[in-house]
Amino acid sequence: MSIPTRAAGLDALDDFVPRAGRAYARDRNLDLGPSRGNVSGLSPYLRHRLLTEQEVVAAVLEDHTLGAAEKFVQEVFWRTYWKGWLEQNPEVWRRYRLEVRDLLAGELPDGYEDAVAGRTCIDAMDAWVRELVDTGYLHNHTRMWFASIWVFTLGLPWQLGADFFYRHLLDGDAASNTLSWRWVAGLQARGKTYLATASNISRFTEGRFSPSGLATTVRALDEEPFPSRTPLEPDDVVGTVGDRAGLLLHEEDLEARSLLAERPDLVGEVVAAAVAADPGERSPVGVSDAVVAFTSGALADAAERTRDASGRAAQVLADADPGSVVTWARSEGLDAVVVPYAPVGPVHERLEALRPALASEGIALVTVRRRWDGVAWPHASRGFFPFREKIPGLVREL
Ligand SMILES: Cc1cc2nc3c(=O)[nH]c(=O)nc-3n(C[C@H](O)[C@H](O)[C@H](O)COP(=O)(O)OP(=O)(O)OC[C@H]3O[C@@H](n4cnc5c(N)ncnc54)[C@H](O)[C@@H]3O)c2cc1C
Repeated sequence: MSIPTRAAGLDALDDFVPRAGRAYARDRNLDLGPSRGNVSGLSPYLRHRLLTEQEVVAAVLEDHTLGAAEKFVQEVFWRTYWKGWLEQNPEVWRRYRLEVRDLLAGELPDGYEDAVAGRTCIDAMDAWVRELVDTGYLHNHTRMWFASIWVFTLGLPWQLGADFFYRHLLDGDAASNTLSWRWVAGLQARGKTYLATASNISRFTEGRFSPSGLATTVRALDEEPFPSRTPLEPDDVVGTVGDRAGLLLHEEDLEARSLLAERPDLVGEVVAAAVAADPGERSPVGVSDAVVAFTSGALADAAERTRDASGRAAQVLADADPGSVVTWARSEGLDAVVVPYAPVGPVHERLEALRPALASEGIALVTVRRRWDGVAWPHASRGFFPFREKIPGLVREL
């Protein structure tokens, strides 16, 4: 299982870079089992921003041309694309959250308990459930097969599958996870479904699995339409930083040095620093022990690496409740709490609850969005293919 430190992430990046070019493009779709070298395994680091997208792409492009590493760079930009898209369509997330809550509170659909316990009698599904629960990771192709079988063969609600992934994946991400499940189910690219077939699974697992009894025809799911797109906030920094600002990192972004390097105006102002997270907010039924352990390890690592203006290490707050943050901010005499911008998802919701709690003490909440997101997200308003056309220009700019 991945070690939750930036140093381990940088080692994994170093190790992977030589394979990020044509070898990745050729072999990335194979899933030959847990000790795979054909993909990077960097997602838990990117998801918590122990590593940034910018530095991963830059490291790869030091060794390869953009032409040779095009596929890998595109995959990193899928992450950016999904985030930018959800940012402009937040209702998709809100509805998903409500539907998961209602589904889990009601009578669970037939077959759900067996599916999440690895007892479907479809050998591949049962093995993937064990792998997901034991390691907190599944290969991308396997995630696609899993979601397709869940929705179209087992006939289970996509929202419960997405919730199961989100609770167990170390890289569990509101945008990538929710929108990928929707994409498989034919809701994201309207009418276009992803059908898992035994021959494709057998080919890309080199015969490890060849499940029988899979659905052979599918119909895209349907849903009520969503309101039209909301524009992105134009400014990168929202709020005003006074004389005594404290930096608060959270599980969406644990790399203060590169964040502050983008905002030299803020560096001298950070008189205190803290880190706080609550991965349990991902689901009404909490997350796996592996996710809790990865997140708290990542938090401890970020605290050690993050210093305030007088060189003190960041404080790890006992929890991420507004009350705990307010207590810390008051004890440090802050007039503003600066946070990395949290994209649509649980951390965003938590920060929205924190804002009035701080305001009642006369403390401002200031959000800082990274340039990477600010520049790329506006292009994520339509499908991935128009976004993909922009990637070479984005790479040059970023
Ligand atoms: C149903 C489903 C659910 C998913 N849920 C998540 C999730 O919760 N969190 C998550 O980070 N990814 C998710 N993905 C995308 C993808 O499967 C993982 O990012 C990838 O498998 C991570 O492994 P890796 O780091 O070895 O990827 P690599 O192939 O080495 O790719 C490098 C990086 O690019 C990004 N990336 C690659 N493929 C995708 C993709 N299709 N969409 C978005 N980003 C991508 C990841 O940050 C990844 O670390 C999901 C895909 C599907 C089909």
